[in-house]
Amino acid sequence: METYKKIILPEKEMPTKWYNIQADMPNPCLPSLHPVTNKPIGPEDLAPIFPMELIKQEVSKERWIEIPEEVFDIYKIWRPSPVYRAYHLEKLLDTPAKIYYKYEGVSPAGSHKPNTAVPQAYYNKMEGVKRLTTETGAGQWGSALSYACQIFGIDLEVYMVKISYEQKPYRKLMMNTWGAKVFSSPTNKTASGKKVLAEDPDSPGSLGIAISEAVERAATDENTKYSLGSVLNHVLMHQTIIGEEAIKQMDMAGDFPDIVIGCFGGGSNFAGISFPFLRLNLTEGKKVRCIAAEPSSCPKLTKGEFRYDFGDTVGLTPLLPMYTLGHTFIPAPIHAGGLRYHGAGVIVSQLLKDKLIEAQSFHQLECFDAGVKFAKAEGIIPAPESNHAIACAVKEALIAKEEGVSKTILFNLSGHGYFDMSSYEAYFSGKLVEHHLTEEELHADLKKLNTPAAV
Ligand SMILES: *Cc1c(COP(=O)(O)O)cnc(C)c1O
Repeated sequence: METYKKIILPEKEMPTKWYNIQADMPNPCLPSLHPVTNKPIGPEDLAPIFPMELIKQEVSKERWIEIPEEVFDIYKIWRPSPVYRAYHLEKLLDTPAKIYYKYEGVSPAGSHKPNTAVPQAYYNKMEGVKRLTTETGAGQWGSALSYACQIFGIDLEVYMVKISYEQKPYRKLMMNTWGAKVFSSPTNKTASGKKVLAEDPDSPGSLGIAISEAVERAATDENTKYSLGSVLNHVLMHQTIIGEEAIKQMDMAGDFPDIVIGCFGGGSNFAGISFPFLRLNLTEGKKVRCIAAEPSSCPKLTKGEFRYDFGDTVGLTPLLPMYTLGHTFIPAPIHAGGLRYHGAGVIVSQLLKDKLIEAQSFHQLECFDAGVKFAKAEGIIPAPESNHAIACAVKEALIAKEEGVSKTILFNLSGHGYFDMSSYEAYFSGKLVEHHLTEEELHADLKKLNTPAAV
């Protein structure tokens, strides 16, 4: 019996285009609205903070967008990324299901995030931008963008959520190594940060607050633009290289997935692995189940509301039609820092509303339990975020066992956990506790919203 399968796509087979699902969505996304006038925004509203090419990609309906040669050459440093058959995990679970995973931890920053950081830095460079600002939660996005900005000679300021800044000194040092300046957010450098600190001097920070700070810096300096690591349409599109490669690799393995899984923060790695398979659902009548796996402590897809909301805490960004817990929602400080965002990407939200994708939520103890099982069986120690995808794959594999059917499952292993060992330590020593949101906690921030309904 085979016990090992690593599927390497030859470099010459690497996809040369990103897939834009906006070309194939049965219901297009609702427009984003101006935060003050509530009118649909145009390119001129976004021009102060994003380069024009990314604004175009954000609303493009073209099915395929060519990957620029300069970006493609950098992708080749770690792409195509491998797909593995998880034989040992299958054996451990004693399941008839076949489990495959696509491993994005092979990038220099250790996650899928450089897939969009590199093109974003590239387009900014092409348009003469001197400095970028961004936020980071767990530090993966900040480190990916630091790497990309270093390549193209752009200065970078990173607003890092305070709790992660304190828990993850090595992610910060990684960013410093690649030349970025990193601040613990909320800071006293911006009006947004000062406002939050005035209300709560001990604020642990949140992605929403850090976004407010980074956007404010870009909006108030003409040589500075802003870059976001998830949620936006162009970011999700850049990640589709993952799934386009995976389609070819599953073909090489002589297999095709019944279920495709990604963990869910704002939607980028989930979109990356699943949109290319959804393309086959939408255009070739395939019936792949695409499942987004989110933390129960920040359950916007399974418990949030579909409505207009801000992308940040202070309310500087456009109003986005999305599943949200309310832009003032601050999740419990669970260790999967990268999944602590209050909202979901607009495209993913529309697809969920149209029931073209599914969402499930997982408690952190079952995620670490699944992650440790995976590490023992397959060797790679996953990022805490990726553990949510593994927990979902394990659950589906055990359902297949109960039903006595063989399913083929493909999940995205979005990153490695080598900078997250302190959260594993907390898990092993029993300090990691189950957090159960009460209905009251869930609805408190949604009740406060006075943003327009998304109809
Ligand atoms: C950032 C991150 C995530 C969550 O972000 P998405 O945009 O939802 O993909 C998941 N896994 C890893 C390893 C990350 O770095």
